[in-house]
Amino acid sequence: MEFNIALLKGDGIGPEIVESAAAVLKKIAVKFGHKFNFTPYLIGGCAIDAAGKPLPQETVDGCLASDSVLLGAVGGPKWDDQPGENRPEKALLGIRSALGLYTNLRPASLFPALRDASPLKDEIIGDGFDIMIVRELTGGIYFGDRGYREGKYGSEAYDTEAYSVTEIERIGRVAFDTAMKRSKRLTSVDKANVLESSRLWRKTMHALAEEYPEVEYGDMFVDNAAMQLVRNPRQFDVIVTSNMFGDILSDEASQITGSIGMLASASLGASSRGMYEPIHGSAPDIAGQNKANPIATILSGAMMLRYSFGLSAEANAIEAAVNKVLSDGWRTADLLGGGKGTPITCTEMTEKILEAI
Ligand code: NAD
Repeated sequence: MEFNIALLKGDGIGPEIVESAAAVLKKIAVKFGHKFNFTPYLIGGCAIDAAGKPLPQETVDGCLASDSVLLGAVGGPKWDDQPGENRPEKALLGIRSALGLYTNLRPASLFPALRDASPLKDEIIGDGFDIMIVRELTGGIYFGDRGYREGKYGSEAYDTEAYSVTEIERIGRVAFDTAMKRSKRLTSVDKANVLESSRLWRKTMHALAEEYPEVEYGDMFVDNAAMQLVRNPRQFDVIVTSNMFGDILSDEASQITGSIGMLASASLGASSRGMYEPIHGSAPDIAGQNKANPIATILSGAMMLRYSFGLSAEANAIEAAVNKVLSDGWRTADLLGGGKGTPITCTEMTEKILEAI
């Protein structure tokens, strides 16, 4: 099969990790007899430097014309003083919106070899956990009305959380369908004891639950969910939540898998075209030092093969290769938390995974 993939390397460690994932995809193409064509486009701070804005129209058009998109990360101290509308991170919201990507799937499972890298105690990890966070991606407070106004204490800034029934139903269906394909357990996370938008979220999810009687459904407040993720992650299978709560909880979930450098994500909409990216940022503190863990981006590539191209055997081959390399004891610096393993660089980790494929 032949597919066109847009590469958005971005800033910081973005170029290093996207090149790693592209090398892995090229190897898979050779091994399984496919053709993947890669076209790079600018996004984030590097696009501000080259084109004056974080999301040039050429990038949007290129992504729309491709079969799928692989993104590294954007942002960094160099662009921190840009006005809100011209910040590198604004490009992420723009491209998600332009591609109609309302679902963000963030799997958080523990590779057995990384037990020592997880900050959780052995008895909490038990026989491991495998959580799928389904995060709403194009609504809520990140897209709501915002600005400055005069308030009780003078000038103030505000952001607005708003969700429609349509948006909640749309992400809810993805979550229930995902649960049906897994162990049929779904937890919806909200803040319905305080927020009106969460009360509508909960009411809409309850109505959907009636349509999925086989799914064991439960509600949880976000503060409790944050606690339960470290107290007993094994209780969760699929979690569905809003844009901001999903952003925060998935970072927390990433850390219990060993490192934020391990977590992949898929952003999906109505078409088969998706955008695939690690959940971490551009890690300016280690950029250009060959220290980044490329695994989250490599696993994002595997998700692309599975979700956008329907190539499950190829995705499995990548995941098995990652598993083998970790089981053999190879670790990038971020994974050395447990004190075990042999430290290697980003490029060495990539080469090990290529060899294992
Ligand atoms: P970050 O995720 O970039 O880094 C947090 C910590 O995790 C750092 O210590 C970093 O070195 C480490 N880390 C992250 N990814 C790693 C990897 N693959 N291997 C090894 N270590 C890794 O978050 P931050 O520091 O809060 O943000 C840095 C910049 O990234 C900011 O400009 C922020 O806005 C941006 N950001 C972008 C995205 C994105 O592009 N999707 C997401 C989050 C943050």
